[in-house]
Amino acid sequence: MFRPISAALLTVALGACAAAAPEQQIVNDAASALGGRDRLLTVTTLVLDGSGTNGNLLQDMAPDASGQTFVVSDYRRSIDVAGSRARTEQTRTPNFAYFQGMAPQRQVFGIDGVVAYSVAANGTATRLSDSISKDRRAELLHHPVTILRAALDPTARLTRARTEGSERLVDVTTADGSTRTLAIDAATRLPTRVVSTTDNANLGDVAIETRFADYQDVAGLKLPARLTVKTDKYTTATIQLTQQRVNADAGNLAAPAAAASAPPIAGAPAPVVTVEEIATGIWLLAGQSHNSAVVEFDDHLMLIEAPQSEARTLAVIAAARNLRPGKPLTQLVSSHFHSDHTGGLRAAVSEGLTVITHDGNAAFYADAIKRPHTLAPDALARSPKPLTIETVGEEREFADKTMTVELYHIAGNPHADTLLMAYFPKSRVLVEADAFSPGAATQPYAANLLENIARRRLKVDRVAPLHGGVTPFSEVVRAAP
Ligand SMILES: [Zn+2]
Repeated sequence: MFRPISAALLTVALGACAAAAPEQQIVNDAASALGGRDRLLTVTTLVLDGSGTNGNLLQDMAPDASGQTFVVSDYRRSIDVAGSRARTEQTRTPNFAYFQGMAPQRQVFGIDGVVAYSVAANGTATRLSDSISKDRRAELLHHPVTILRAALDPTARLTRARTEGSERLVDVTTADGSTRTLAIDAATRLPTRVVSTTDNANLGDVAIETRFADYQDVAGLKLPARLTVKTDKYTTATIQLTQQRVNADAGNLAAPAAAASAPPIAGAPAPVVTVEEIATGIWLLAGQSHNSAVVEFDDHLMLIEAPQSEARTLAVIAAARNLRPGKPLTQLVSSHFHSDHTGGLRAAVSEGLTVITHDGNAAFYADAIKRPHTLAPDALARSPKPLTIETVGEEREFADKTMTVELYHIAGNPHADTLLMAYFPKSRVLVEADAFSPGAATQPYAANLLENIARRRLKVDRVAPLHGGVTPFSEVVRAAP
């Protein structure tokens, strides 16, 4: 039975208690701690200058290593708070031997509405993919001012107030349906971090977290001078701000015309797979930036490398099976764990391939195969299969009456600790990834590759690289400093 009077009395009673919902209370407390709701609503721009480091996500020396960093200098992040636009400019200098050498690299990238873009050193602007756009839009609210502005907006939905340790947390869902978690310090009420979730081809569902520390007084606000960004457990950026300006001229934060006028990019370009027989029973499958190789044994086929993405790897697997339809493709050799070389690892497992890799990659691969991919379910998430893995220490031979392949650890290489190369003694072909890439501006890893070849007394005539085309061995010798 409907009782309008009782309902009205109840509403009045709740109002009289002045008890905001716990979700709203967290937002109100944080807004007060930062300088008050009214002051927050006057913020139009933030211009943040500083320096710090970038990590080398899934590209370090070993899966759990974190020693490779880029020193970040001349960092500026400019945020148009109301306009949902931001641009970051920074100079990045690797502290390790890198493809481009140790040279500083100027980076400019941003988001304007749904247009994510980067600007190359020569000024050319490029629109980036929809998935990067989504991550950049999430990142726009990874600051106390922007997340609280969003949380205070009447269209925001606040849910799941909770306490974890010394933090109070609330989920903030904005009008576009995306959700971030705001955590505040239970004592100071200042925001401690903002977390959003995204899909990562290698890691599956991951949290991207920005932590805030070292709060300072800036123009009537408390603003954090230290920002630490993680993807999953991996630190990707630490920034110490030396100057923070509120409502300063942020410059023109519109996306450059070339990016703004470009069509949206729903995904990677469709896979193009070319097939080149480089010796009896060995094919190089190329066509885009990352190659694979196919090896024919008497009763089965072996694939070397499942790079980039599920789409690329499934196309490569189909092309491999097409070469010898009567023979099952049963094995995948994975050269190393770097994300661009393992983006198709899960796809290969979903196709029933046994994975062969260096000992040092095994635990990481086992974890990658088990991780949840609920945000963007991939082939393995749709039909889970266990990982079958065989590992290689320093060397291991796979041979039958028609084919011999010797897998060797490329020991001591500054590109990665867990690199394998494949040597074919009958055809004197070497397949390797990243240690030598024809046409690269610098070859910081080639001298070590030569040392490994010499130590193993391998007689190499040609290199079939996993980046670039088949090259005479003399080119490797020439490239090594
Ligand atoms: Zn690599």
